[in-house]
Amino acid sequence: MTQVIHSIKDFQNLKLSSKSLGFVPTMGALHDGHLSLIKKSLHENQTTVLSIFVNPTQFNNSNDLINYPKTWEEDLNKLQSLKVDYVLSPTKEDIYPLNYSYKVCENELSQILCGARRPGHFDGVLSVVLKLLNIVQPHRAYFGEKDYQQFLLIKNMVTSFFLKTEIISCPVIREPSGLAMSSRNKRLSAAQLSQASLVYEQLKSDKSLKQIQETLEKAGFKIDYLEEHYGRRFIAVFLGDVRLIDNVEL
Ligand code: AMP
Repeated sequence: MTQVIHSIKDFQNLKLSSKSLGFVPTMGALHDGHLSLIKKSLHENQTTVLSIFVNPTQFNNSNDLINYPKTWEEDLNKLQSLKVDYVLSPTKEDIYPLNYSYKVCENELSQILCGARRPGHFDGVLSVVLKLLNIVQPHRAYFGEKDYQQFLLIKNMVTSFFLKTEIISCPVIREPSGLAMSSRNKRLSAAQLSQASLVYEQLKSDKSLKQIQETLEKAGFKIDYLEEHYGRRFIAVFLGDVRLIDNVEL
């Protein structure tokens, strides 16, 4: 039976004493990408906790926050059928008891790619992940390579602050078309959805960055960035007002 908990105090009062506790933090609107993280956690741990919290401090664009898809009932059905043990879905007042007066800032990796285009985004991500790791105190926490920069920043934060949780990365799960699964895909029209598969097709091609940029711009995408770092090629594009990100190993 999946137990749903909204209050952080109630969650802490459970005093989970599992030999292996796995944790999957999400913002809900669950798709097969999220489910792959959950299945890995269920396989590797006695107990799995999933959090659903749409974290306001990581949204630098208020429309993106307002339009973020919410599918609570469907999410719960999926979690129940997978037999996830606990769902933690706190309020923002509970997560930010002193508003946002304390935060985690990183000064290097967070300044490029998404960090350069979304000021404050990674401060919000790192702050909420630190809070959630402190609340749940898992042995292992699972993050997707779809958000590779985020995964690296969290792994480095755990190292920097001597947290005991092991940070585990999971491969990008894609639609049959190649499009990386994302909650934001729900905001694309049917035509945009099929158009969006061009992003991965181009990203994994052996074309130069300039050629890829030209092809995508001709097809109607607005490029936010297209860069190579750490042996990977990273992209962020706008299709209409929906921002999509992806990355591949070179
Ligand atoms: P989100 O709900 O978007 O914050 O994502 C929660 C977790 O799921 C993050 O660790 C993401 O990297 C991961 N995730 C999201 N989409 C995918 C995907 N297509 N494949 C693998 N992991 C994903």
